[in-house]
Amino acid sequence: MAKITIDGKEVVVEEGKTILDAARQHGIRIPTLCSHPAVSSWGGCRMCVVEVDGSPRLAAACVMPVRDGMKVVTTNENIITARRVVLEFLFAERNHYCMFCGASGDCELQALAYEYQMDHLTVTQSFDKFPVDVTNEYMAIDHNRCVLCGRCIRACHEISGAHVLGYQNRGTHNLVGFDLDDIRGESTCMGCGICMQLCPTGAILNRYRTHHAVLGHDKTKWKVIDSFCPQCGLLCPTVTSVENDYIIKIEGKTEAQPGRPDRGQLCQKGRFEPLKSAGKRLLKPMVRDTNGGWKEVSWKTAMDLVAGRMNTYKDGGTFGLASARCSNEELLLFRDLMVKGWHANYVDTLHGPAYTSLTSAWADLKKVVLGLQEASWKQIAEADKVILVGANPGESQFLISGLIRRGILERGVQVTVIGPVDVTAPWTTHYLPVAKGKEPLVVKALLAEIMSSPHKPVHLKTWDKIAAEIGKVNVTELLKQAGLDDEGREAFRWAARWYMEAKNPMIVVGNNVTSLPDATGLRQTMYLALLRDVVQQNTLRLVVLKPNGNSAAALKMRLATEKSSVEKAATWKRGLVLLAGDDLATSPFLNHLGGLEFLAVISPYFPEELADKAHVLIPKPIWLEEEGTYTSLDGQEIRYKKAVVSRPRGVDESWQTLLALMQRSEFHPTYARWRDLNAKAEEELRPGA
Ligand code: SF4
Ligand code: SF4
Ligand code: SF4
Repeated sequence: MAKITIDGKEVVVEEGKTILDAARQHGIRIPTLCSHPAVSSWGGCRMCVVEVDGSPRLAAACVMPVRDGMKVVTTNENIITARRVVLEFLFAERNHYCMFCGASGDCELQALAYEYQMDHLTVTQSFDKFPVDVTNEYMAIDHNRCVLCGRCIRACHEISGAHVLGYQNRGTHNLVGFDLDDIRGESTCMGCGICMQLCPTGAILNRYRTHHAVLGHDKTKWKVIDSFCPQCGLLCPTVTSVENDYIIKIEGKTEAQPGRPDRGQLCQKGRFEPLKSAGKRLLKPMVRDTNGGWKEVSWKTAMDLVAGRMNTYKDGGTFGLASARCSNEELLLFRDLMVKGWHANYVDTLHGPAYTSLTSAWADLKKVVLGLQEASWKQIAEADKVILVGANPGESQFLISGLIRRGILERGVQVTVIGPVDVTAPWTTHYLPVAKGKEPLVVKALLAEIMSSPHKPVHLKTWDKIAAEIGKVNVTELLKQAGLDDEGREAFRWAARWYMEAKNPMIVVGNNVTSLPDATGLRQTMYLALLRDVVQQNTLRLVVLKPNGNSAAALKMRLATEKSSVEKAATWKRGLVLLAGDDLATSPFLNHLGGLEFLAVISPYFPEELADKAHVLIPKPIWLEEEGTYTSLDGQEIRYKKAVVSRPRGVDESWQTLLALMQRSEFHPTYARWRDLNAKAEEELRPGA
């Protein structure tokens, strides 16, 4: 530890910390611009200059390490003059006319100018016209507002692991560039937006942001709400700024979160999409008249109509579909309404076919070993070898792809990709390119290869059962069937060997395998994970990517069944009640819902896709407008999310709508308050239940 004095106050800090760390730890403010606690420091802007041991040569506090006995002064006339000079040159070198900037009122550069009372420039402005890049739907980059602090570049390297950004050109032409001088829209940028979050000026702008800051210039009116994104099961922590019930921006939480390996990164779904509307809002109940037109009706009329029709079908022919983006409470009520209230023949989630083999594969595995569960996605951050089997986390659980990329670059993690797309190119160690659905052939070949090698895990008690299932296999023939050429077969052999030699391998399996109607491929992927010791307490070295935020809860509630199929659903032609989220348009069921006698849709948006098939529409809030609990991807965590903005006037909370329908069905649970319902959902879903 080092004992130092800052502005006359004696403080003790760890050796190796910087002066800025020491000051922050002890609540002493030093102004900064290029420094941000979420990324490394580089001492570029010199706003944080301080006096050390009385020397007239000022030091950058963000990079200067502490030394025992050091005496630091953070403010005096000399320091203030130096900081003002820094600021004046920054303002003179680019176009910083704040009144035309979307970040005005929420800009660190502007705030510093106010703080240092910089109301005019004493140096001549000397900026050129720089380009504005609007080639990305969500973000614009206006190089005229850039102070070249490099925070975006470090965020892209250190948080996102994408390494897209860098400096290009020299001197006064210096710019932040994408890849090798590309525009953002043609670069390898993945649009996560962490560069934008860390940008201290208006240089990187959210194109969907509500510009209240410009109107009011008053951030103090904002409500800042700690929440999380429930859309893919990773439950990323968010900080949402709201004014007058409008969301201004959603940011990731860059402070360290206990047990979470991500560093504040969000994806487009979490950061940008809630700011735009997923369609025309449905604000009143509606029924379709005999001419095919839609007319508004009262809540009572709509509810009576739905219940009246569904009650007549109790002898069969009905089914229910729910979005697995709904909360635990909504899913529980919907299942009970359909199964106990209306005796539905079939219930499923809108994307059930994407994980149709999951339930049966786990049931099969239990016959070999009891009590195993899947690993948490967070454990990928500790793996030294990752095998992706038919999985593209960049599409479903974006943050996992960031974790893997960072693992490759920071810790030399080796990655094997089995599937049609090389998801970590160009950093994949072994790429086994096989068509969608052929991944199980490679998995079986891996099992057989390992069984016949010196790496065979002789200790495994269940080995005989697995060996009996695999039987005698011609590995070369299997790989040929999978479509691997000589290069692919060579990569396969290395992958098999390295998997068994790895200290802490992890398998990530995705949609291409879980959606196969036959569970064999998924079961054998589980066996492959079983060949290595478990991660901890009966946790298999396997992470299963699921299509939606609350798919794990839907599976546990048996809302997503092992026999999920669009053809099966289409056999029930009488009544369907559909509980939608904002993912209706991508449901594989959509094209199979023709010819129904009756279709009721409960949805936050007017369901354009079903406008000519549905009979009754009932509105519900979007997930940002109501409270609820959500289950993590691995089913091991349940988190409560409060409402971030108000629901539209006249739109009831979903749980009350579902409860009102239940009162009109055969099943009448008594949940007086949301809390009672929540307790019931927790009882069913808590880990180990
Ligand atoms: S959006 Fe993400 S990937 Fe793209 S440049 Fe910014 S930090 Fe890098
Ligand atoms: S774009 Fe923003 S974060 Fe990046 S260098 Fe410029 S001012 Fe700094
Ligand atoms: S990775 Fe998942 S939880 Fe995180 S922001 Fe994206 S959709 Fe939301």
